[in-house]
Amino acid sequence: MLSSDPVFRFAPSPNGELHLGHAYSALVNHGLARSAGGRFLLRHEDIDTVRCTPAFERQVEEDLAFLGIAWDEAPRRQSAHMHDYAAALEALAAEDLVYPAFMTRGEVKAFVENFEEAEGRSWPRDPDGAPLYPGLDRHATTAERERRMSAGERFAWRLDVERAIEMVPALTWDEKGASPVGESGTIVARPLEWGDVVLGRMDVPTSYHLSVVVDDAIQGVTDVVRGRDLFYATSIHRLLQALLGLAAPRYLHHPLILGPDGRKLSKSAGDTAIRALREAGLKAEDIRRMVGLPGRPDQNGPDQNGPA
Ligand code: GLU
Repeated sequence: MLSSDPVFRFAPSPNGELHLGHAYSALVNHGLARSAGGRFLLRHEDIDTVRCTPAFERQVEEDLAFLGIAWDEAPRRQSAHMHDYAAALEALAAEDLVYPAFMTRGEVKAFVENFEEAEGRSWPRDPDGAPLYPGLDRHATTAERERRMSAGERFAWRLDVERAIEMVPALTWDEKGASPVGESGTIVARPLEWGDVVLGRMDVPTSYHLSVVVDDAIQGVTDVVRGRDLFYATSIHRLLQALLGLAAPRYLHHPLILGPDGRKLSKSAGDTAIRALREAGLKAEDIRRMVGLPGRPDQNGPDQNGPA
């Protein structure tokens, strides 16, 4: 293997069973890695140590093996690398790019509904539909922050996104798939749409956004292949990469496998869980066909651009 060979990864959270949507994502990732002569890595995104369990992690590995997917090195488990994320968070803190934010999600919702929307003012929402953080404590004095933190008030580390974008040039990424509305090619990142995202918690020095970016860089990932539900999050990922001096991978956001009701599958997807399908006697090739891929990896058929 040359160091310039592409590196792909599949990065599920072991907080439930893999379903057909995960199978599609993993199969496409693995297929692209193999046809590019690259490496395929597995990463367990288990920073939520309450919901993620070793049993789900084992099941992820069993399901992937059943699908004929092999990974090229020992899986990286995020919970074992908290020091890497803490170092990244400290680097951002040293630049004054994060602040302790004391409003909970519920308080943000109440603030927006009771004070802003009740007065007829519209309040911006992020691409997932959550109201943006009001940032009332963004400019608190150091003394005030320390007083609240030492009084044991709960807080999260949030990115000061307006300050952050001033520190980097305009950012883009190379999109090999497509956004939910069909944008492809060079995409302009719009991190402001997310507001001051959470990058760490009081007791866990990271969040999804921070650890995914740090890990992709540490693992030398060149190609991020994942579902379109994460297309918009890439704006924040590009911003964090630029702030932390990390290389940008290529991205391919693929369509999602939807349930019969037209909705995204969930981890409690019951009969679309790979384990249930396995136990019902289906073979890997049946599952490949169910997600619109040819029964065997070497056959021609629909590609990563769309499940049937
Ligand atoms: N862990 C994330 C998930 O299970 C995926 C992260 C990624 O592919 O960037 O949805």
